[in-house]
Amino acid sequence: MVDTRTQPVSRTGEAAPRFSDADLYSLAEKHGTPYFLIDEATLRRKVSEMEEGFSEYKGAFRVAYSVKANFNPSVIRAFTSEGILFDLTAPSELVFVLKAGGSSENVMYTSITETAAEYEQVIRLGVRKVVVASYNGLVNLTEAAARANVKVKAMIRVNPEVHVHAELRGSMGHGKFGLQFNGGSPDSALYVLKRILGTPALEFEGFHFHLGSQIEDPACYAEAIEKLEAFILEARRQLGDFHVGTLDIGGGLPVPYGKKVPTPKEIGGKIAEQLNSLVESIGDRFTLVAESGRYLTAESTVLVTRVVNVKSFGEAKYIYVDAGYNVLLDSALLRHEYPVEVVPGGRPSPQKVALVGRLCDPLDVFPISSRSKLGGAAVGKLVLFREVGAYSLVMNMPFHSQPRPPVVMRSGDGSYALARKGQDVERLFADEGGDCLPS
Ligand SMILES: *Cc1c(COP(=O)(O)O)cnc(C)c1O
Repeated sequence: MVDTRTQPVSRTGEAAPRFSDADLYSLAEKHGTPYFLIDEATLRRKVSEMEEGFSEYKGAFRVAYSVKANFNPSVIRAFTSEGILFDLTAPSELVFVLKAGGSSENVMYTSITETAAEYEQVIRLGVRKVVVASYNGLVNLTEAAARANVKVKAMIRVNPEVHVHAELRGSMGHGKFGLQFNGGSPDSALYVLKRILGTPALEFEGFHFHLGSQIEDPACYAEAIEKLEAFILEARRQLGDFHVGTLDIGGGLPVPYGKKVPTPKEIGGKIAEQLNSLVESIGDRFTLVAESGRYLTAESTVLVTRVVNVKSFGEAKYIYVDAGYNVLLDSALLRHEYPVEVVPGGRPSPQKVALVGRLCDPLDVFPISSRSKLGGAAVGKLVLFREVGAYSLVMNMPFHSQPRPPVVMRSGDGSYALARKGQDVERLFADEGGDCLPS
């Protein structure tokens, strides 16, 4: 049963969050355009939506925020105060979380590089829950834990090799992430599990998998859980009993981007029953963790740009804004159709329109969704790009000598404050090598 009360507002086509036209214009006066605007209440609401989404699971459930999606310190701060976990993949991300007020107790560290030096560094900073994904990684973690004389909870990242229907896939035929269940070499979950169980510096905590981003069909989760169950039962036959404390099903909850996608409730509801029967079959009431970067942050944020020119070309009206794909790189890579809207008075355009950016590059044309409201676009008006809080904001690049735009956050009490200063051109020049010129 899908509880309609918990359907996210954005699913109805009514764009959220709302900002008043007056606020958008006065922030544009104060900070210049383009600027990003984050709504803190939406970040928090997304956490509750995920919790509600998996509420049919009978054990404990924890949301983990994948910091790579948006490492803005104010965004991290908002999530630390929600008491959720942090999914980190670099020591520098850990520094961000700790400096923004987070605690290493809430960190699950999933490295891609898995070096001993990296593990030593994060253990020194207090991390005690690490996900390993290679035999070398396990050896390095063991060494780092023994050297620091601490006990580390080790999870195993498995690659269940399932087909994923999503924009970014990371399972079938994709060996970069995770271990095969039984690959016949030390790089297999069975072998690594056996070693963890026999290593005093480590305590086995559970399993992790991550199937992809923007997953539109939850069937891949079901298939992965089924394979994991078979693996656990077989591993117990071979290695004796072990306790599964945590099952982390990774990220991938989808964001609408102009089309209909399943909600966390629809995805969680589909797999909760299966997870409940997994609890019965393995006899461990594990803590379920779902990670998210995209779902937790995308809808919270708009990019506010200004129309700088309009022109007719054949049937079409071309609308030029003062931002380019360099500040919306995630959308450029995935060809997302961001819902865009003219302020004030945006309405569906009666005429064919093209929305183009300020870069001198034929690729700098924005794919726009059918929900877009570009009617009434005129020079000086603002154009909002919605759902840009994930990845884009932190993938900014200075192509065309473009300084990074400022980021403003509306906090829970409705007040606005800078969450990142805009870069000025002097600073950009220096950072790009100006300060290396001989004087
Ligand atoms: C990127 C990533 C995520 C987040 O994916 P989203 O699609 O943003 O939810 C979660 N877990 C791991 C291991 C990742 O690499």
